Amino acid sequence: MSESTNLSCYIAGKKIESSNSLDVRSPYDNRLVGTVALANASHTEEAIAAGLAGGKKLTRYDRYLILDKTRQLLVERKEEFARVISAESGLAIREAIYETGRAHDVLMFAAIECLKDDGQIFSCDISPSGKARKIFTTREPLGLAVAITPFNHPLNQVVHKIAPAIAAGTPVILKPSEKTPLTAIKIVELLYEAGLPGYMLSVLLGPTNEVAEPLVKHPAIELVSFTGSVAVGKRIATTAGYKKVILELGGNDPIIIMEDADIDTAVLLAAEGSFRNSGQRCTAVKRILVHEKINDLFLEKFLEKVKEYTCGDPSDPATKVGTVIDEASAIYLESVVKKAVEQGARVLYGGKRTGALMEPTVIVDVPRNADMVVHESFGPLAPIMTFKNIDDAIALSNSTAYGLSSGIITNNMDYAIRFIKELKVGTVNINEVPGYRIESSPFGGIKDSGLGIKEGVIEAIKCFTYVKTFSMPW
Ligand code: NAP
Repeated sequence: MSESTNLSCYIAGKKIESSNSLDVRSPYDNRLVGTVALANASHTEEAIAAGLAGGKKLTRYDRYLILDKTRQLLVERKEEFARVISAESGLAIREAIYETGRAHDVLMFAAIECLKDDGQIFSCDISPSGKARKIFTTREPLGLAVAITPFNHPLNQVVHKIAPAIAAGTPVILKPSEKTPLTAIKIVELLYEAGLPGYMLSVLLGPTNEVAEPLVKHPAIELVSFTGSVAVGKRIATTAGYKKVILELGGNDPIIIMEDADIDTAVLLAAEGSFRNSGQRCTAVKRILVHEKINDLFLEKFLEKVKEYTCGDPSDPATKVGTVIDEASAIYLESVVKKAVEQGARVLYGGKRTGALMEPTVIVDVPRNADMVVHESFGPLAPIMTFKNIDDAIALSNSTAYGLSSGIITNNMDYAIRFIKELKVGTVNINEVPGYRIESSPFGGIKDSGLGIKEGVIEAIKCFTYVKTFSMPW
């Protein structure tokens, strides 16, 4: 993407008037890839008023058509979207194309849900004290919601909140990451083009104290749906006040490789989980836990595999690992590697940083208390730790503050069942990476990774509604 894209925040379908703008630069070579006209506190008030004012009520069929049309437009423009994602985030272009496919699925599943009834019926004559009535449930849209999204999947994170809100009929104000605003605004424009009425969606970026914080605190907002870091998520939990709050926060996911594992499967999944998306997924493999009996064999094959993850220019289709989001993040990753080495760890592959490019890095003998494995390391680091037996593996896995997901490599059903029952996480994937999901299945973590309220298209639609019951003699 050589030309720069000049975009603006929108309030209810209209570009805002603003003299302040944000420059968006490539993390790879610092070139200007776009600008965004920024909002201020009065724009925030205006967007809230426009969402609350409402407009033409959309039928289920209207919502289906808008989401499906957006899906079709995205298919037509997927290369253009992928170029913007890659340019502003530094993600490899192949990952950006993959992300457009995920967003396609989100739009498809959300469109399908529009066509389904979501009510339940309860007969009341089913106990000694019952009588001939029925209770019916119906889901009603919220008055207005706010969606706040992180940088790491610039398109998919946004679509995972906006599409369910539209399917539910709930107007929403989007506050995307300042690090990746271009993709977010482009998908908003695509939704307008597909026929979404303005009042259903605004997109605002601007100073936190003029945009994000007033949105979170505003009493007329009925839901804040947030995906991002633990620190910001916990702050929102304390400032949001009396409203629904969905928090999808950080992770420190293990892949646990048992002694009976198919070693080639283990090597492939550990590498994909650690290095895809530059290691910047909430569910990336952040710890590789290997049974001590097979550690030598695993390591030998893993060190061969990692050579395939070429790191460099994100726009080159051959690049597998692009940059992390900015140079400051790469410097942080470099520092946690250095600190672990001071504590006795050894770097067996990679470890070098150039600007925001961090090489895929394999580190062994990582102490269990190293920052790199206690906190979330959001980058292409592969710390390998060994365990003695399944009890040790479960204890080690559960030892961090996080509880998002996990991957277990085993063909032993007894092991699989113990992990499913005993890991304190939102997801356990057997013979898959922690990040495996389809876009409609329930997704979300516990402990510091979230409050246990799931997203994924179907659950997220429920979050954007409230249930009303009514009963009738029957
Ligand atoms: P972040 O720093 O927490 O930012 C996320 C969003 O919050 C951005 O839009 C940011 O806006 C906004 N924000 C910042 N301060 C705020 C405040 N005081 N009130 C309201 N909003 C505020 O997270 P990030 O660095 O972009 O994303 C990486 C993190 O997200 C990682 O921890 C990753 O694990 C997590 N994540 C979790 C999931 C999940 O589903 N569990 C999925 C993806 C990512 P600005 O850009 O303007 O600062």
